[in-house]
Amino acid sequence: PNKLAQPTIAGGATAAELADLDRRHLIRSMPNGAVTERVVIVRGEGCTVWDADDNELLDAAGGGVWHSPIGHGRRDMAEIAAAQMSRIEFFTSLYEFSNDQAIRLAARLAQLAPEGIERVAFSSGGSEAVETAIKAARLYHHRRGEPDRTWILARHYAFHGATYGSGTATGFPPMQFGVGPNLPHVEKLSPPYLYRADQLYPDQDPTDFLIAELEETIARIGAGNIAAMLGEPVMAGAGVLAPPADYWPRVREVLSRHGILLIADEVVTAPGRLGEWFMSDKLGMQPDMITMAKGIAGGYAPLGATLMRDEIADALLRDGGFFHGYTFQGHPVACALGLATLDIIEREDLLGNARRIAGWLRSGLAPAVDLPVVGDLRVEGTLAALELISEPVHRTPMGWDQVIAVAFEVRRAHGVIVRPYGSNLVLAPPLVLTEAEARRATAATVEVLRRLHPDGTLAPC
Ligand code: PLP
Repeated sequence: PNKLAQPTIAGGATAAELADLDRRHLIRSMPNGAVTERVVIVRGEGCTVWDADDNELLDAAGGGVWHSPIGHGRRDMAEIAAAQMSRIEFFTSLYEFSNDQAIRLAARLAQLAPEGIERVAFSSGGSEAVETAIKAARLYHHRRGEPDRTWILARHYAFHGATYGSGTATGFPPMQFGVGPNLPHVEKLSPPYLYRADQLYPDQDPTDFLIAELEETIARIGAGNIAAMLGEPVMAGAGVLAPPADYWPRVREVLSRHGILLIADEVVTAPGRLGEWFMSDKLGMQPDMITMAKGIAGGYAPLGATLMRDEIADALLRDGGFFHGYTFQGHPVACALGLATLDIIEREDLLGNARRIAGWLRSGLAPAVDLPVVGDLRVEGTLAALELISEPVHRTPMGWDQVIAVAFEVRRAHGVIVRPYGSNLVLAPPLVLTEAEARRATAATVEVLRRLHPDGTLAPC
């Protein structure tokens, strides 16, 4: 067959043609090949997006992977990108070179970051930012004369990325299956999962259990062999799991006592998604490093950042230097968009709106709590998870395929985008969501959940 005789590729292709081309050529991540439908998104404005058939959809998922804080299709962002591109698109920041936008964004992030965090290494996304943090933790200890400190502690159910380091630290076995050997010296701890506290830590205070497990793990591996612990302040992909108030302060105390660094993975939570610039600050983590990505440039360009204390950065940069970096680190277009995103969050009071959204999500989703298929409702800032169950005694998680079907039904029946994450249905709207949009998104979600039977089947509308 003549490859050049394929259907129209540039412009003018119909939605059906685009879907065919997608199925034929594009590899995207999804749980399995069973998802055959294609919704080809072609434009957006605020919290609304349109597909190639011009169907309007309300984005209650923050662009799908909770990465969109300031809404879609903004002209002000397009103008900033165009202005920067016409000045200069990119020049390396290796050796003596640097660029004004990366310098400004690093300084601005240092200003907003928790006390003591002053330095920034840029990358192109969350996995890369986590990868940088893992390497930085190991090299820091190496330079300090403790080269055996190589182990990384992470937690089951956490998501940290898809590269080998970040993917091994991820507590989601399909990430590691069939692609091994994965990164050695990574150990997983239990997550703070209060909905299942009686099952996971019977007859114990959750924090007492988790701290005892941490202490036992450190004793087993040996404190002198552990570089860092990596954790999200609030676990997003695990289903919006917030820890008890004393969890992070107590973890921090144990780690400090053993000379172990704490890396806060704020790829989802910063900037602003939970109504604070940085959630690690609020929860008493006092991190040594912070990773950011997703919403840092509003979703208008890929950008990641690894923030760290001076002492760590100084150790990396002395002796042989930090032989680690990515071609597009500190990309000036992405960094200009990062600065603009922070300005917009400030100017439009989006931290305040994130807190208002939390209230709207809580009240809008409250009627779902008594449904037999809803085990738990968790709302933290603009993140909401409804954990779906198929029976109430053991609270057996609803199957992934059924949760996917529920999310699809919310879109098909109501034109609202919510997302499946394991047994959780997740809402994570842009921080510009209005009260009316919140009402529409939550009502759509509740309506479909009312039609969901514990066996996973959906009654018709
Ligand atoms: N860290 C967290 C907490 C995440 O949720 C994700 C992605 O979902 C990542 C890291 C990886 O980020 P990326 O997909 O940009 O590589």
